[in-house]
Amino acid sequence: MTNWQELEHQYFMQTFERLPLTIVRGQGARVWDEDGREYLDFVGGWAVNSLGHCHPVVTKAVTEQAQLLIQASNQFYTIPQIRLAELLVRNSCLDKVFFGNSGAEANEGAVKLARRYGQLNLNRAYEVITTSGSFHGRTLAMLAATGQAKFQEPFPPLPTGFVNVEYNNIKAIKSATTDKTCAVMVEPIQGEGGVNLPDDGYLAAIRAWCDQKGILLILDEIQTGIGRTGTLFAYEQYGVEPDIMTLAKGLGGGVPIGAILAKERVAVFAPGEHGSTFGGNPLACAAGYATVKFIVDNGIAGKAKTVGQYLIQGLEKMKQKFQLITDVRGRGLLVAMEFDSDIAQSLVMACLDRGLLVNRLKPDALRFMPPLIIGTEEVDEALGILDSALSSAIS
Ligand SMILES: *Cc1c(COP(=O)(O)O)cnc(C)c1O
Repeated sequence: MTNWQELEHQYFMQTFERLPLTIVRGQGARVWDEDGREYLDFVGGWAVNSLGHCHPVVTKAVTEQAQLLIQASNQFYTIPQIRLAELLVRNSCLDKVFFGNSGAEANEGAVKLARRYGQLNLNRAYEVITTSGSFHGRTLAMLAATGQAKFQEPFPPLPTGFVNVEYNNIKAIKSATTDKTCAVMVEPIQGEGGVNLPDDGYLAAIRAWCDQKGILLILDEIQTGIGRTGTLFAYEQYGVEPDIMTLAKGLGGGVPIGAILAKERVAVFAPGEHGSTFGGNPLACAAGYATVKFIVDNGIAGKAKTVGQYLIQGLEKMKQKFQLITDVRGRGLLVAMEFDSDIAQSLVMACLDRGLLVNRLKPDALRFMPPLIIGTEEVDEALGILDSALSSAIS
């Protein structure tokens, strides 16, 4: 049998710390390896597989679109991107859409849009304020936006135009605002940085400050959007509306796609000022349309909220039992569990051995991002395995 993992080591730049598992097939919340062994997937492609693996509506949409038209360039009109744009606008507070291929690309475009807005309306203001512990992507500009030194330090010099301030501190945003500031960019809930929830009133205070200063609020909903946190978009839970919002991860039901959404008055790009070869291609947009339509029509965000609460309750109970658990937090199906020591990696391995895939968020924390379609039985199964992994970790 081919040793795929050995071949990967031979041919790949070693940028990923992969687990020793080669996934060949997926269905719903389950995946299978080369030997046919089954795993319950609470990683969900890093919050991407919103409807689970190979959901029939996504597979059907992709299959049919692949037989009709895969790519035609944005020199022409194509129907799936227009249908998806309409669906997103009708279900959000935003008016205009641009499609790209990934999260980082969407954020790059959002910052370009904010700079262009600043050039036209804010006396050439261009600076974007971001927060510590944030994650906005891997391109050079998004590394500059990302408030985590470990991502930035290997790659100087980083692009300028970003100011990083302490998270959950509105005063820090206020004192960093100058006549050069065009926008504040935050994740409604910080995902990669730790599933960090905003303090009560923090996002509303940022919104009010942006209004007062006439600057833009960019919400990076790449991880929190498309039902992940229990509403279609996380901003709905905090009583704020962004001027610009970015999406990616869950949007395509597994197929790569990113999007920038903006309010009408903010959507100031003129022809030629932004673009993408693959962005908005019919294949990805058909997948996105099928995914979002299914989520909206079937109240999947609400289900994610309920089952997410069930998961958090189960984890809270576990916290009573195991002293080494110091915190359980999250919204919907974006959930983290933190420990008093760096045992996350050994727990990931212990869960893997027992047929459960979980994500190591930090050396001392796990993250759970299962498909939004899971039920309480699957949560029970995962909790059982986690309990057994924890028991083995302390013995
Ligand atoms: C994953 C993520 C990104 C980057 O998305 P890519 O598709 O990997 O470029 C940006 N922002 C947030 C909040 C993310 O979770």
